Amino acid sequence: MSDARSKLQDLKTRLIEVSDVEYANAILGWDQSTYMPAGGAAARARQSATLSQIAHEKFTDPAIGRLLDDLWPYEESLPYDADDAALIRVARREYERALKVPPDFMARLSSHMAASYQLWTAARPANDFARMQPNLEKTLELSRQLAEFFAPYEHIADPLIDWADYGMKASTISAIFAQLRSELIPIVEVIASQPIADDSCLRQQYPEAEQWAFAVEVIKRFGYDFDRGRMDKTHHPFMTKFSLGDVRITTRVDEGYLGEMIFSAMHEAGHAMYELGICADYEGLPLAHGASAGAHESQSRLWENLVGRSRPFWNFFYPRLQAFFPQQLGGVSLDAFYRAVNKVHRSLIRTDADEVTYNLHVMLRFDFELALLEGRLAVADLPEAWRARYQTDLGIASPDDRDGVLQDVHWYGGIIGGSFQGYTLGNIMAAQFQQAALAAHPDIPAQIARGEFGVLHDWLRENIYRPGMKFTPSELVERVSGQPLSIEPYIAYLRTKYGELYGVWGSFLH
Ligand code: ZN
Repeated sequence: MSDARSKLQDLKTRLIEVSDVEYANAILGWDQSTYMPAGGAAARARQSATLSQIAHEKFTDPAIGRLLDDLWPYEESLPYDADDAALIRVARREYERALKVPPDFMARLSSHMAASYQLWTAARPANDFARMQPNLEKTLELSRQLAEFFAPYEHIADPLIDWADYGMKASTISAIFAQLRSELIPIVEVIASQPIADDSCLRQQYPEAEQWAFAVEVIKRFGYDFDRGRMDKTHHPFMTKFSLGDVRITTRVDEGYLGEMIFSAMHEAGHAMYELGICADYEGLPLAHGASAGAHESQSRLWENLVGRSRPFWNFFYPRLQAFFPQQLGGVSLDAFYRAVNKVHRSLIRTDADEVTYNLHVMLRFDFELALLEGRLAVADLPEAWRARYQTDLGIASPDDRDGVLQDVHWYGGIIGGSFQGYTLGNIMAAQFQQAALAAHPDIPAQIARGEFGVLHDWLRENIYRPGMKFTPSELVERVSGQPLSIEPYIAYLRTKYGELYGVWGSFLH
């Protein structure tokens, strides 16, 4: 056993070195998206690629493979949920995955994605899908090749989904989404038959300094620790981590619309609190990450939507917000404001969509990924298929591609496959986790109405944040809620909240 201990120590030392290089690279990425002058771009791209390559080489060193082999009996001797067993298990999984993709393919894929992203930044404003089409065809081809390295598979999308949401498959996700879609479409129809909520109170002049101060006050109360994080401005808000003691968020401010920055700050703070809550013993190891894309989104959306758009939250914070903006909001009632931040309407843009319609945007993208990968849909036919599906699911369709098929960066700066399901899985999980938190602490809503978030935050830290990547997303859901992933809590949440908001209780009860 002492031999196993020294081998485990050797493995940890090597894995920490890999993450040192990766986190150094993350700092370069953060700097590039926040403060780097434009003149730094070319060298920064090269520096970043160099560090990625060094990290990859260090991680795929055969010495790591030998250590993992040698540690097999030790892992077998431990309980499944022991830290050491989880570390060896997750490290082996990632090691085997990294070995399957040849480095020269990875280099080709990265350089194609960088070029494609560059092209997209010009093609989207120009509404020029034709310019992107050959590029997207190449992306599809490379995405298929990437999946092939992991053959055999049940569905060609499975290996790509697995990367983001480990253990999930196209078949299981399709089944969950079909169920969700059949529940959501009637809810959207009932709400759309009601007068549309008035959110003009959010669309006034809101100076940046006050928005910033309010958002900081909110996320500090949530428990985002500014001694272990910070917030800076960027174009597309994101969270990034350099260690378990330094997890940063970024945001953008629109002075003409209050709904942008404060909710994006809550969202990113939700991601950051997840990472900050991971067990400190995992520092630098593969366990020190959120369980999956879906699990991560569950935490950003729980804080942004289930908390940040809830009535108890605004009972406490609305007077605070009015104190920041007496002229803009002094004459707007809490009721009117609450309705404004929960306005439901059929819209074209996923990132602007409300809680109710959002998943329809995600599910159609997921279906298109499967159809493209299977070869059922040609890239050339995608813009028209996009319009048709928007018409069916949301009742509106964009006349142009700029706000249609060109709107998301995912397929233009990344691969096709596994890019979107995490958002909706996150919404589903968030409601299931919240239900479990409320079962343990029924007074959480009353605490939120007093501006107290400690009990909720502690419960999330203990049950969801602490284990990091120790469990698969399915295991995490089962352990936390006692049940497999289910849309029931999410649908119940939407029915209750929006039934009340739109005075349509009866229509939702069946
Ligand atoms: Zn997010």
